[in-house]
Amino acid sequence: MRVLVIEDNPVLRANLEALFAAQGIGTRFAADGLTGLQAALDEPFDVVVLDLGLPGMDGVRVCEALRARSERHIPILMLTARDALEDKLAGFRCGADDYLVKPFAGAELVARCLALSQRHRVGSAHQLVIGSLTIDRRNNRVQRDGQVLPLQHTALQLLLVLADAWPRTLTRSELVERLWGEQVPESDPLRTHLYTLRQVLDKPFAVPMLRTVHGVGFRLEADI
Ligand code: CA
Repeated sequence: MRVLVIEDNPVLRANLEALFAAQGIGTRFAADGLTGLQAALDEPFDVVVLDLGLPGMDGVRVCEALRARSERHIPILMLTARDALEDKLAGFRCGADDYLVKPFAGAELVARCLALSQRHRVGSAHQLVIGSLTIDRRNNRVQRDGQVLPLQHTALQLLLVLADAWPRTLTRSELVERLWGEQVPESDPLRTHLYTLRQVLDKPFAVPMLRTVHGVGFRLEADI
């Protein structure tokens, strides 16, 4: 799981960094709304923790812009400074999925983030469709042109990560981090699994879907 935290208070940022790290959750931080918005559009985060009161572009505007500009639904947890009804309403009106009132217990924030990322995984369409490729989220059954692809383990996970990010390109390090987190095997495992994925996903078909973007990374491309 990757969480983006958009928060201008450096003390709170440091606390959250330690908190998420202790749970093995990868985080990225932004100290203002505009930087945070850009980060949220650049990288496929599982949850965005968004402070309401931010310098420049405030949380409500970041939330609205994210909803308007992102192709997928990014779960947003809004942090409000006080238990004010108006703040909560503003958060929900602009499209936040959940909110937490400061000061909050760190464990609660982590629990809410996990719940949000799960809910959206379950609640989103069960079927992910990219060109002739369909992935059934309930059983991770993958088909291309109606043919079931025998993908297992890491090659399947690799495809799921690329499909979640579609149509974005993921860098080699993003892929490695998403697949192995901190425990990266010593050999170059990504290479092997990219090869395996290509054999199953692309080899039997005329148009390859797994594309290498030279100097950048890898992405899926719709074939129809
Ligand atoms: Ca603030």
